[in-house]
Amino acid sequence: MLKIDRYRAFVNYFSEHQPEAVTELKYSNPYELLVAVILSAQCTDKRINQITPKLFERFPSPKDLAESTPEEVFQYIRSVSYPNNKAKHLVGMGQKLWNEFNGIVPSNIEDLQKMPGVGRKTANVIISVIYNAPAMAVDTHVFRVSNRIGLTNRAKTPLEVEKQLVRHLPAESIHIAHHWLILHGRYICVARSPKCDVCPLTWFCKYYQQSQTETALKRLEKAKLQKAKDGQKKKNAIKISKGLKKYEIDK
Ligand code: SF4
Repeated sequence: MLKIDRYRAFVNYFSEHQPEAVTELKYSNPYELLVAVILSAQCTDKRINQITPKLFERFPSPKDLAESTPEEVFQYIRSVSYPNNKAKHLVGMGQKLWNEFNGIVPSNIEDLQKMPGVGRKTANVIISVIYNAPAMAVDTHVFRVSNRIGLTNRAKTPLEVEKQLVRHLPAESIHIAHHWLILHGRYICVARSPKCDVCPLTWFCKYYQQSQTETALKRLEKAKLQKAKDGQKKKNAIKISKGLKKYEIDK
């Protein structure tokens, strides 16, 4: 299957079945999304959604974070991964956002990446979710699923995956394709044992097609071996039978 056809099948399927895919992080404004995405690194959205209501209640704006301390923020985020670092990042981000950007979340990745705790992935999430920009944030799900389906080819780093996806996806689908890949990776194309038996993408998934070919080849090999064994058994039986006949005649 040509790559262009695989991309077309991918976009067509999800445009029809998940036209409204969105992030599972709960937020009510760009600042809250920025906080939630910083917290979500190496952690589940479910866990983040459990702790953000109280965090947002105590720190409703970047000014509140800017005026706080990592020690205080830590109390609200202690159950997420790397709470010490993230508490420092949140306070630093609040200060930067409040002092240098008037509390307004920037719409470009260069400015976003100036903030503590904000790398390329987080910046891409913000501009694609908030501003619908054609940016692809590559997390572990996007990396794995796009590779399995065959949307990417020998991409070894998240940046390579990002570049290949952005190059081939229609510009207007890039921001939503990020959610399609994440949700598919979270619920069907899971890391250890992808649920191919219930996956609707098998007909164009490279991983599935390769695994089917491998299974068919293994079956063929097994059948050949069995045939060879049966042939040998038959030969042995004939040999024994001939031996017996000869034995009887000799008698
Ligand atoms: S067919 Fe299997 S490997 Fe391919 S996308 Fe679906 S679950 Fe993932």
